[in-house]
Amino acid sequence: MTDPDRRRLREPLATVLGPRTAAPLAQLGLHTTGDLLRHYPRRYAEPGTMTDLSALVPGEHVTVMARVVQTTVREMRSRGGAILQATVSDGPHDLSLTFFAKRRGVLRLHEDKLRPGRVGLFTGTVGAYRGVLQLTHPDYQVVGVDVDDEAAAMVEASRPIPLYPASAAVPTWRIQRAVRTVLDPLLAEDLPDPLPPEVLARHGLRSLRESLREIHEPYTEAEHQRARHRLRFEEAVVLQAALARRRAEVAGQPATARVGALPGEPNLLAAFDARLPFVLTAGQREVGGQVSDDLARSRPMQRLLQGEVGSGKTVVALRAMLQVVDSGGQAALLAPTEVLAAQHLRTLRALLGPLAEDGMLGGAEHATRVALLTGSQGTAARRAALLDAASGRAGIVVGTHALLGEHVQFADLGLVVVDEQHRFGVEQRDALRGRAGITPHLLVMTATPIPRTVAMTLFGDLEVSTLAEVPAGRPGTTTHVVAADNAGWLARTWARVREEVDAGHRAYVVCARISPDDRVDARGTDDADLVAPDAVLDLGPQPTPRPPLRAVEEVAAELAGLPTLAGVRIGVLHGRLPAAEKDDVMARFASGEVPVLVSTTVVEVGVDVPEATVMVVLDADRFGLSQLHQLRGRVGRGTAPGLCLLVADAQAGSDAATRLSTLAATTDGFRLATVDLELRREGDVLGASQSGSTSSLRLLRVVRDADLIALAREEATALVAQDPTLARWPALADAIETWLDPGHEDFLERA
Ligand code: ADP
Ligand code: MG
Repeated sequence: MTDPDRRRLREPLATVLGPRTAAPLAQLGLHTTGDLLRHYPRRYAEPGTMTDLSALVPGEHVTVMARVVQTTVREMRSRGGAILQATVSDGPHDLSLTFFAKRRGVLRLHEDKLRPGRVGLFTGTVGAYRGVLQLTHPDYQVVGVDVDDEAAAMVEASRPIPLYPASAAVPTWRIQRAVRTVLDPLLAEDLPDPLPPEVLARHGLRSLRESLREIHEPYTEAEHQRARHRLRFEEAVVLQAALARRRAEVAGQPATARVGALPGEPNLLAAFDARLPFVLTAGQREVGGQVSDDLARSRPMQRLLQGEVGSGKTVVALRAMLQVVDSGGQAALLAPTEVLAAQHLRTLRALLGPLAEDGMLGGAEHATRVALLTGSQGTAARRAALLDAASGRAGIVVGTHALLGEHVQFADLGLVVVDEQHRFGVEQRDALRGRAGITPHLLVMTATPIPRTVAMTLFGDLEVSTLAEVPAGRPGTTTHVVAADNAGWLARTWARVREEVDAGHRAYVVCARISPDDRVDARGTDDADLVAPDAVLDLGPQPTPRPPLRAVEEVAAELAGLPTLAGVRIGVLHGRLPAAEKDDVMARFASGEVPVLVSTTVVEVGVDVPEATVMVVLDADRFGLSQLHQLRGRVGRGTAPGLCLLVADAQAGSDAATRLSTLAATTDGFRLATVDLELRREGDVLGASQSGSTSSLRLLRVVRDADLIALAREEATALVAQDPTLARWPALADAIETWLDPGHEDFLERA
């Protein structure tokens, strides 16, 4: 609706507040009335609860609440001018405030406000003068001075004080004042509520207008808590409504039913099953059945297959692809990295044998082809693959994001399998889906196990199948944390690598970056394979300088010089190598010719070399929990037990130390994923922090708010069932659009 209602929310702050007030707000990403109203306080100061002044550190920009103890003004003979000095206190500790002025009269304003006994918020950079901590020319706000009569001042002085995410240029009370200026004149009809009236009624929730007042201008703690809850629920409903609408949209699209081979027709799937060197696990059979049923329907499958590391998802996917090929269609398998795409190609060809050798000598009758499409392959290979895809000769096309290119055409694309989906966004998924005139079936696979309610949030538009068990007979993997500064343990680490190599096994050594010259946060490549720098956690400022992160090139050279590893061939793998070289290194590692592989996290997901038994991760404290679990999943996949050594120097009690000890203590991916989510900082889970957009979800936290999300999902599903387009609730539809703009919807996929 192009109504007057939302016009108020879109008004530029420069118009409402004036350009001078609006400019610093714009730096915080707040441009419109709507932006400002959704800029919620981070927390609240309770009047009378003073900041602990003993914790202040010179050089920090701080905002403190303290009581004025004393204020003096004097002339400065030596320099001329006047100085006002005030002492503020939290009780036991004092802080000095200093203001200079040319003339004494100028200071009167401050003197008048900073009367002893008054409480205020003071903000500035902590300095030290003759050993006393002080703020020079602090910006400040005295509680309750803005009102005229005594009674009103008492009320003001007892209200919780909202503390906003602020900056040095805009202290929190400026934001508070701006919010008041903007919010107070607005009426309920200026603030269309994304929550439909019936939802409000059902849950006994207050209107958006009231809730914004309560969160920004509370009189009591209960008010802002109530508002926070209602606004959080609103976010959950908006998100779930977006997902429910999407589900409904896709479910309404026609798809071709792919029932597989009919009796008497060539049956690749049956031939494949007959060749399979192992028996399918019960889980694989069950999930395989679900997928097979989905494919046989004439509406698009939308399924997420989440499986513990090493649970055998590839076979499930391959069998689904063969069902489609047997029905005359084609399947595309998208991998996040070239290393993984190449491995899938090898695996599929090996498992299929002559069944994948259509047109080749020795190929089976009615065989198909498996083609590979990646960004870095040569022109001739690419052209051949494109032709195989377009002509339909290739029943299966494996590739990286290059598969999404505009020139890639399929004769009859029936199924898209996305492996390790968290590296693909919604748009890419849609790109592939839109390519074929008719919607292909979609199977998304992830080895990052996701707790149920989280899956509901992040993958709410997909139905979920789970493969929890790994094939029987796997001996398991032992994990140890190795202190990086303990030379003896490090020596032992390399000795273990040697022992495994001598026993015919392989070892991975994973580093956080490629070359010693790389900055930690360098993103100097557009190669999708290079994962390491992005993946390294930003731990913020470190208290003590840390030794630089170990780099692939440096570590490979070092290991080559170790007497312990004398005569052992050491390979190097990272995203910056040419594709052919990556392939070559992986193949030689798999064959055992080069039994030690020093690499980045490019081996994090999916890489499958059953003979690998040792995973050494250097600077392990810098990796996320799920990531380490994935890395550990690279070993212990064959018949010999795996060993995972996490080399780290993590301070006891730090988040990093918790991650490592949790990892060493459990191999349950679901449990680890939950801990991981709990340890992550605000915003990380929904990716809100990355976009820098103000139109994001602010209050919702997927782990903590699981119940709320489940409730919101019910509401949203019911709403979409009543009106699949949500046109009946324009404010809800509008919230979906503004909060989940296309660039932002990525978070649905990435977290
Ligand atoms: P992931 O689920 O992590 O992608 P993969 O599909 O790579 O796991 O499978 C891991 C390994 O287990 C592969 O070497 C695969 O051949 C093997 N595998 C798969 N299914 C079975 C099974 N039912 N029995 C024994 N081994 C299996
Ligand atoms: Mg896999």
